[in-house]
Amino acid sequence: MRKICVIGTGYVGLVSGAGLADFGNSVICTDIDQSKIDMLNRGEMPIYEPGLKELVDRNVATHRLSFSADIDTAVQNAEVIFIAVGTPMGNNGEADLRAVEAVATTIAKNLNSYKIICTKSTVPVGTGARLEKIIFQERLNETAFDVVSNPEFLREGSAVKDFLNPDRVILGVSSKRAQSILAEVYRPLYINDTPMVITNVPSSEMIKYASNAFLAVKISFINEIANLADKVGADVHTIAKAMGQDGRISPKFLHPGPGYGGSCFPKDTEALVHTGEQYGVDFQVVKAAISANAAQRKVILAKAMELLPDMSGKVVAILGLAFKANTDDVRDAPALEIIKGLEEQGAVIRAYDPIAAKNMKKHFLPNLDTRNTVDETVEGAELVIILTEWNELRGLNLADLKNRMTAPNIVDARNILSIDQLKELGFNYRNVGRSTI
Ligand code: NAD
Repeated sequence: MRKICVIGTGYVGLVSGAGLADFGNSVICTDIDQSKIDMLNRGEMPIYEPGLKELVDRNVATHRLSFSADIDTAVQNAEVIFIAVGTPMGNNGEADLRAVEAVATTIAKNLNSYKIICTKSTVPVGTGARLEKIIFQERLNETAFDVVSNPEFLREGSAVKDFLNPDRVILGVSSKRAQSILAEVYRPLYINDTPMVITNVPSSEMIKYASNAFLAVKISFINEIANLADKVGADVHTIAKAMGQDGRISPKFLHPGPGYGGSCFPKDTEALVHTGEQYGVDFQVVKAAISANAAQRKVILAKAMELLPDMSGKVVAILGLAFKANTDDVRDAPALEIIKGLEEQGAVIRAYDPIAAKNMKKHFLPNLDTRNTVDETVEGAELVIILTEWNELRGLNLADLKNRMTAPNIVDARNILSIDQLKELGFNYRNVGRSTI
């Protein structure tokens, strides 16, 4: 059992903190956002994540997990400090490291005993060395420390499961001392033979970007295949399935749609391109994935306009705002640009999302007309666009939907509806890579 402080209690910090407590460690999660800490101390979750409340409650009850906004004291009492603050996209696409660097300074000022500073935030290669330098310069005495890279691979929507049962754990370490303490922190995973990749800090930092960029490339690739399938009467699902049966390819991340979004792929691909530029490496493939992703939003808009060429004053119902199902995260969600494009055409937007509507209004579109039910949203609409693959939307009663709409037009940007049923009911429909089958 190790004493851990997690700095930054967002999607990654909260899930990781609760998971590390579940592994038997004593964890304090901290944040500069006092309201978040207050919520957690009242037993409320600041984010939507399946299974998170149960995990948090279980570990709070055993006193292994607690929350505090007093970061100084939490750092002083910890042996291992995980940095999990945000690293959003800065100017020119580079990662904005201001929060990470501010945390490094706070740690330096509170370095009262040997500590491991472990970066979970996604940070560009070279950041570990930079943090080491900051702490070295800012510490008030000669206390020893180690900076370790431990990138996180959890996915929103299945974050709890992913953290507790990861495909692998990456540890970028430069000292045996840090390595053996982290082996204890992750002891249950060592025992159940989870692969552990022990490497140096720069390799670890690069593994995270290489993985995310590769997945982004895969998504953009299948979207372009889908766009061709649409034109030639082919079915992208059959193509993707058959591609995935080739063991060298794997069927994962071959789902066409409106393009990737969320708080990771858009910013991480840009940051990798930016890092490449700094070192004279031109990431042509990743750049192409980024521009194909931007173009995919327009592909969806074009499908909408095919069905409803004159949108002026017409109600367009958007079903799904989150960048993917099972999360309330709307950062860089395809819905943002697609709604903007529809509004530019004069459409009157009404939107529904079972979880993410509040975040969309709070952070990005304060004037968005959001409704509490699908029925209310589609009433009188001339076009419905499905943008998130929520289970609830997979089970839509299409006959009922058609009755409520003024015209039976539907763009299924996630390919979740039955084409047979759409045809049977007389819908004008478009999807991604299956429109002509
Ligand atoms: P988030 O925005 O949900 O949470 C970040 C938290 O850090 C916020 O609660 C914020 O208040 C807090 N914070 C900011 N500055 C702080 C400071 N100086 N001191 C203390 N707290 C501070 O972000 P997230 O989605 O959890 O992402 C965190 C990092 O993890 C990012 O680098 C991200 O790229 C990476 N990551 C995210 C995911 C994901 O699915 N969200 C997955 C893997 C890795």
